[in-house]
Amino acid sequence: MLRVKNLTCGYEAGFFLKNITFSVNDGELMGIIGPNGSGKSTLLRAIRRVLKPLKGGILFKGKRIDRMGFKELAQKVSVVSQSAEEITLNFTVREYVLLGRIPYRRRFQILETKTDEKIVANTMSLTDITHLSERNVGELSGGERQRAIIARALAQEPELLLLDEPTIHLDIGHQIEILDLVKRLNEQNNLTVIIVLHDLNLASLYCDRLLLLREGEVHSIGTADEILTYSIIEEVYKTPVVVEKNPISSKPLICLVPGGKGEVKK
Ligand code: ADP
Ligand code: MG
Repeated sequence: MLRVKNLTCGYEAGFFLKNITFSVNDGELMGIIGPNGSGKSTLLRAIRRVLKPLKGGILFKGKRIDRMGFKELAQKVSVVSQSAEEITLNFTVREYVLLGRIPYRRRFQILETKTDEKIVANTMSLTDITHLSERNVGELSGGERQRAIIARALAQEPELLLLDEPTIHLDIGHQIEILDLVKRLNEQNNLTVIIVLHDLNLASLYCDRLLLLREGEVHSIGTADEILTYSIIEEVYKTPVVVEKNPISSKPLICLVPGGKGEVKK
């Protein structure tokens, strides 16, 4: 679905992603992890073509994304970004979700079509916000708002969904709710997902594979079992951890060690 090859890109101010290479398979749920400032959001920006590559490039289904029109790309890839987004806007939830249909508008078209209406109703039902449709987006709770943002992204009918720390301001109940929703869309609707998560335990629970970034470079790529070992985490995050097995999922469970220099389990 997506192939990133020898990608180098960044900001004049000094930060660069260096020589990034990886692929995301059709139907995969790929997690991007790494310390603050390691380039996770920057990598998503490159995939959505906000940042131009200096070297290398990105192929979406074999096609160079820099040769795709913005509209074409927006019909295939949609984004739930990190910032609290446009949320103070004076839209009803339904109007907000309808924004996802903009890439499908014809020139001079103002009103939504019957297809738009059907898709918006469908994505609102998938994300369980139908009952909120006439509420103002600015008045929603954190979990409801995040579901509305995901509904807007789904209304674009993407093949690939990019999410940047979608659970960051949510309590644990809402974190699970949002990630269960993402997993369900991934499995049942065969939506390919790239998700930036900074909570390693959530990454462990939900992602098929993980890409670990360190200082703008790919440190490692693999399954949670391969990547979330105490030695890799300690090396990259520079803090001791104990890694156990989650008794329910059997995935790695990362335990933090207060005091910084705690006994490290070998
Ligand atoms: P992460 O998402 O992993 O926390 P980012 O990709 O947001 O990291 O940022 C990586 C580095 O790039 C940071 O050092 C950050 O300060 C810098 N950076 C992010 N956005 C910009 C920008 N628009 N201009 C210049 N530097 C930026
Ligand atoms: Mg970020």
